[in-house]
Amino acid sequence: MTARVRPLFRWCCLCCLVSLWAAAAAADQEPDADDRITQVSVINALMLGRYDGTTTLSDLLAVGDFGLGTLDRLDGELIVLEGVAYQVRATGAVIEVDPETTSPFAVVTRFGADGELACPEGASLEAIDRFLDDKILERNNFVAIRIEAELATAVLRSVAAQERPYRPLAEVAKSQSVWRHERMRGTLVGIRSPQWTEGIAVPGYHWHFLSADRRVGGHLLECTVRTGTIRYDICGDWTVKLDQSRGFNAPDLGTDLRDEVEGVETRRGVPK
Ligand SMILES: [Zn+2]
Repeated sequence: MTARVRPLFRWCCLCCLVSLWAAAAAADQEPDADDRITQVSVINALMLGRYDGTTTLSDLLAVGDFGLGTLDRLDGELIVLEGVAYQVRATGAVIEVDPETTSPFAVVTRFGADGELACPEGASLEAIDRFLDDKILERNNFVAIRIEAELATAVLRSVAAQERPYRPLAEVAKSQSVWRHERMRGTLVGIRSPQWTEGIAVPGYHWHFLSADRRVGGHLLECTVRTGTIRYDICGDWTVKLDQSRGFNAPDLGTDLRDEVEGVETRRGVPK
């Protein structure tokens, strides 16, 4: 190489390195942002009656277009679908949530499908859980699951806004509203959290449902699927937004509440 060409060569190499670094940095950041699950507070805090909202829906919608949770004072079930937040009140009414409304517990992500599966026909919710356990082997990561389905039956619930002093969730759930529906089309919004999140998230599957006409919804306790398409998003990045108030530090969040969480958040909560 001549002395005249050498500086040009060095400059080109530098440019290449800078663009490679920029591409690598983009590759590092963008998938993370899309694969991030953002959670508000921890499940044990909700179980012990921390129902005051801490994060606004507008903050949640900035980091996720898909997810579930509850609203300030435990005022119903929250469903986030295609960037819109819906509240299912204890009366059964479904309304769009004001962006300034806060949530004491929610889990959202930007949904981007990593895979698609046909839903087994005639499957119960429990059978769907087992089917997904067999098909999605990333058991130690979070998975967001969206099922577009025609349901033969659905059992949904919601809870009413609470007044202070707040009672534990296991108590409140005894007076939950439960509805049984037949032949409904809509979306199952699900989050599968790893077993190692015990006490922090809801280990296993947590399902909410919203009908295609956006008039029926809630926390899904049971269903039978006629047909459905499953899409899932494996999320390898988890952010937990903790309550900054002093009250958050009062209860012992290390308490073993496994039975209570299972009773409230799974189909064992279906009244006979
Ligand atoms: Zn729920």
